[in-house]
Amino acid sequence: MKVLAILYNGFKSAVQEPRLLGTVENKLGLDKWLASRGHELIVSSDKEGPNSDFQKHIADAEVLITTPFHPGYLTREVMEKAKNLKICVTAGVGSDHIDLNAAVDHKIQVLEVTGSNVVSVAEHVVMDILALVRNFVPAHEMIERGDWQVSDIARNAYDLEGKVVGTIGAGRIGYRVLQRLVPFDCKELLYYDYTQLPAEREQAVKARRVEDIEQFVSECDVVTVNAPLHEGTRGLINEKLLSKFKPGAWLVNTARGAICDQDAVVAALKSGQLRGYAGDVWNVQPAPKDHPWRTMKNPLGGGNGMTPHYSGTTLDAQARYAAGTKKILENYFDGKEQNPADVIVGIGAWATKAYGQR
Ligand code: NAD
Repeated sequence: MKVLAILYNGFKSAVQEPRLLGTVENKLGLDKWLASRGHELIVSSDKEGPNSDFQKHIADAEVLITTPFHPGYLTREVMEKAKNLKICVTAGVGSDHIDLNAAVDHKIQVLEVTGSNVVSVAEHVVMDILALVRNFVPAHEMIERGDWQVSDIARNAYDLEGKVVGTIGAGRIGYRVLQRLVPFDCKELLYYDYTQLPAEREQAVKARRVEDIEQFVSECDVVTVNAPLHEGTRGLINEKLLSKFKPGAWLVNTARGAICDQDAVVAALKSGQLRGYAGDVWNVQPAPKDHPWRTMKNPLGGGNGMTPHYSGTTLDAQARYAAGTKKILENYFDGKEQNPADVIVGIGAWATKAYGQR
């Protein structure tokens, strides 16, 4: 059986650090195991365009492994060429780089290693919130430049205590963010999700659900996005919704870049409607060198906490999603039932409620 994996290059780092499992070089640690079971493994980072390794090998692969960090975009058109494809495994969480409706139509299963990196991302969200609220990035840049002017930083630095923080999406990551914020003594923790948390889970983090998104953003000092990308979230945070935010709010998005409108975010930061924007996800990955989110700033020259997409690919996360990928493949080869929580699309049908209300 042919297994195709589209992973990111690790180059020197992957040779020096074998725990960088999710790289082309270290092949999720699957190569010897797959060979011992008589399967062929093709690994590449070359994913764009009709002559890419991705499009060449998808023609006869039965299994596709991808990661959200270097997404191989499996569109309906590419799927039509993939005559043998039966199962897509996302090494990580978030399968929006696959046309999931087309996967339903083509009876191609889509699974993720659910939960594998949710703590990794929740920790990153808390870090991004603190970095923005406390104005950390400009402060550090000042030090590297050899300058020292406390007032230039302090004029836009605040405490998280006493602020209202809300999450769009209170699933595995969103809920963990709320849990981690409890000791900061925020004024209130809010969530916006079409799924209500059970009362005891709400009570455990003292979170209040707000059912109207405009009302929700108008109450938040900090908004964090923790919902999957699907028809109902693509472009959700656009010019109109940003105008309903509290003036000078902070926005953290580690879910998916395309949930926020690129130009509306740049304009909101520039005008000061947003005081800061941080996250690790981009509408195209890798982000082009001239992507405006790399250098956008608020009127005081700060407020940008962007990084490459790495929150969910810490070494701890990689160990978990590499092991989870192997388990999904083992179940598939042996005809065993998959963990239901990992199944996004089953054979010819949606299997999760997290990717929008259908
Ligand atoms: P989850 O399925 O546990 O939770 C998602 C929640 O979002 C669910 O409660 C769902 O009801 C809610 N939701 C869906 N659509 C919504 C909408 N329109 N409005 C409000 N809420 C909505 O998923 P999770 O494990 O928490 O992961 C969430 C997302 O985070 C992933 O789909 C992925 O896109 C992203 N993620 C990013 C990284 C990273 O490295 N940056 C890593 C892992 C996951």
